[in-house]
Order: sequence, then structure tokens, then C-alpha cells
Amino acid sequence: MMKKLLVVITGLSAMIAVSFAITRCESQPEAKYVFYFIGDGMGVNQVRGTEIYNTTMGLSPEEAKLSFTDFPVQGIMCSYSGTSYVTDSAAAGTALATGIKARNDQVGLNVEEKPHASLLDIAAEQGYKSAIVSNVAANHATPTVFFAHQTNRKDYEDITRQTLEANTNFLAGASLIDEKDNAPFGERWIENAKEYGWSVFRNSSEAAASDSDKVLLLGDTLARETLRYAIDCHEGDIKLKDYTSAAIEYLERKAPEKFFMMIEGGHIDYALHNNDLASSFVEINDMDESVKLALEFYKRHPKETLIVVVADHETGGLNLGGYNSYELHMENIIHQRSSIESLTSQLRHLRATGQGSWERVKALLQEQLGLWGPVEVTPEEEKMLRTTYQRSFIEGRDNRVISLYADNERLAYDAIMLITKKAYITWGTMTHTGAPVPYYVMGVGAESFADVRDNTHIPQRIAKLMGGSLPRTE
Ligand SMILES: [Zn+2]
Repeated sequence: MMKKLLVVITGLSAMIAVSFAITRCESQPEAKYVFYFIGDGMGVNQVRGTEIYNTTMGLSPEEAKLSFTDFPVQGIMCSYSGTSYVTDSAAAGTALATGIKARNDQVGLNVEEKPHASLLDIAAEQGYKSAIVSNVAANHATPTVFFAHQTNRKDYEDITRQTLEANTNFLAGASLIDEKDNAPFGERWIENAKEYGWSVFRNSSEAAASDSDKVLLLGDTLARETLRYAIDCHEGDIKLKDYTSAAIEYLERKAPEKFFMMIEGGHIDYALHNNDLASSFVEINDMDESVKLALEFYKRHPKETLIVVVADHETGGLNLGGYNSYELHMENIIHQRSSIESLTSQLRHLRATGQGSWERVKALLQEQLGLWGPVEVTPEEEKMLRTTYQRSFIEGRDNRVISLYADNERLAYDAIMLITKKAYITWGTMTHTGAPVPYYVMGVGAESFADVRDNTHIPQRIAKLMGGSLPRTE
């Protein structure tokens, strides 16, 4: 009898085990709400540097931490493109959107220049509504890799047309770059956008409340290509967080079942191309404000939400240390109040209005960077700044420092390089490097990212959690 019972029990447990296995296999986790953050240029040193900067600012250890550096799954991945160990944002973005390697300067195409589907296509196919959000132009490289296919990322005529054809419900960016008419950014396209079915907004709250199935949210003035640098923002200025919050509110209402969102901290890269350290750290903090909004959402839907934070590449070859020393003095950076772009325009304003005396310029550098105040200036350093002032600011010789996105005043650059040097921080370049980049994941299916080693793996894992698969030619 006992033996018979044992056989029955063994048989039963085998059946339970089999049916459990089948159920598990069938119930592959599904990410109903996907938040995909791309910190443009945000290498590991940029992330760690931001936390040291925050600590030096006097924040508590908890406040100083970026929310995503505590995510349970994180690692390092390669960012090389199909044509170079040093990628640009178009190729890196293509890898992160489609799961394939691309040529530098190309968008949504593989190395043979064939178009590939992106996570936005997976979203549409699987019944997700979606949003694409950036604090730079909506037709800049990183947003467009999700919906455009172009051999030249700077062919803005064609790229903008493809932007207006984008299969997404909510598209937010500071502007639409227009190479034909460089300022204001996007006015010419607004009428076209309406013809393509977009409801166009310049105000985040109105966009968030819209009933339209196609919302295009642009900057309030269109006088700038990007939103204002976070370090330059005043009360009431639009920030990435406003766009992210509007997109969440819109999608939560319009797509309560499932949605996909990409949020780009694009301005991080702009600051890094200028080697403007404090501005890049403040931009990373600014993107983190949006990650915190995703975390609040996660708390309401913990079993169905996936949050992925990645960098597309490293910009600047940033070193937390230098000069053969074991020192880092972030206290020399924390008094910076303006981006190099704003400092440049303040200096140019002084010169244009006949107020460019050394005393006045010195007072500006003191107020905006803390020089001759909390940041000590030696007589040799003052001599160096004074020489730059005389040669570039007064005599107009070698007075511009041109980076990928800006044309800055030499004196602003030299003064910012001085505080950077005093912090013992060094830069390798004003462009990108091939340094591996970080990724951070939490939420449903996060464990499937543990073996990610390459940027193409990220969208492949996300697509799977949305019920689709990448890469896939169109
Ligand atoms: Zn860049």
C-alpha cells in the first residue's frame, strides 16, 4: 500500500513539475512599461564624477548618488561602430535602437546600408504606444535612430521628413534642426508637421493633456537648437524632466495597458564636447531627475515595468585624476554657475557694450567660476588668464575654441580649463573615445541583461521582453 502511495505521489509531483515547467516557459516575463534612457556621452567616469561632484557640493551620501547606480543589474559594454572603434552618436544610437552595428554618420542602416527595424517598430507591432523624448533637437542623431534610415545624419531635409513620418505617439525635442534656415529652429516645419497629422505644442502641460494620437512637443521659443543647459536654467525654464513628465502623463492616460519610452539626455554630450565638466555633471543630474520619475512609476507597477539606463559612447576621454598625482579636488569645480556657452555670451556682451576692462572681466570670472574667491588663483595663473585676455579678448587673435556643437570664447575656455586643472581632472579629446560604457537595469526581466557585453545586446533584450525580436531587416 505504502509502495503504491509512493508511486502515486512521485507520479503526481512529476506531473506538477512538468506543468510548472510549461507554465514558466509560456509565461516569459513581459515588460508592459519600458523606460529606455540614453545618456549621450555618459561614460563611467562621467557617472562617478557626478557623484563625487554632488558629494563635494555637500549633499548627503544618499542624495549624492545617482538613482540608477543602485540598479540591481549593471555592467560595461562595447560601443564600437561598424566602421570604427570610436563610434559617433548615429552609429551608437543605431546599435542601441536596432541591435545592429552601423557606419559612423549613418542612421538606422547596417554596414551594407540596409534599413533595420528598431524598438519603435517592435512597439508598434506588439501594440505598445510610444514616446521619444530628448533635450536636444527631435531630429538629432539619437532620437532619429529609432525611426529614420539615412546614409548621412546631417541630411536634415530628408531626416526631418522621416521624423514627421515617425511611427510614435509623442515626440518631444527642443527644436527641429533646419539646415536651410538655421534660426529659428523648426518654424518652417511646423505647418508640415500638421499635414503629417501631428498636433504641435510648445507647452508641456498642454501636450500632456492632449487627446491627439500624435503629439509633437517643441521648445517654447524655437530660438535655440537645444533646451537651455541645466546649469544655466532659471526657475520656470523647460527641462528634460518636464518633457519626461508630460510623456508619462500622456502615455499613462492614452496607453494604460502598455507603452515604450526613450528619453535622451542629449545635452550631456554637448557639454562634454566643450570639455565643460561642471555643465556635464549638472546635465547628468538633470537626466537623473527623469529617471526618478520612471522610478516613481515603477513603484506603482513594480511587476510590469522595465527601466534601462545606458550611455551610447564616452565623450571627452575624461580622467578623474591626472598630473601624476593621487589627488582630486572637485571643490574647485563646484562654484561654476554658467555653462561655457553662457559664459561666452556674457563675455561677448561685455566686449560689445564697451565694458570689457580686465577688472570687469575678472569680476565676471569670479562670479561665474569662483576664481579669486573660493578658488584660489596664483600669480602665474592670473598672468596666464591675463595673457589670454589681452591676446584673444582685446586683440582678437586666436579668440575662438570651436567644438562639434559650439563656437566658444577662448577666455571662457581657458578659465574653465584652469578650474578643471586645479581639480586634477584631465581630458583626452573634444570628441568621442572607444572606452566601454555602462548600463544599468531594473524591473521586469532585468536579469536577462546580466550577460550584456555589447551595445547591440541591449535592444535585443528589450525587444524580447516586449514580445518581439531584433535585429530584423525592414
Ligand atoms: Zn558627441
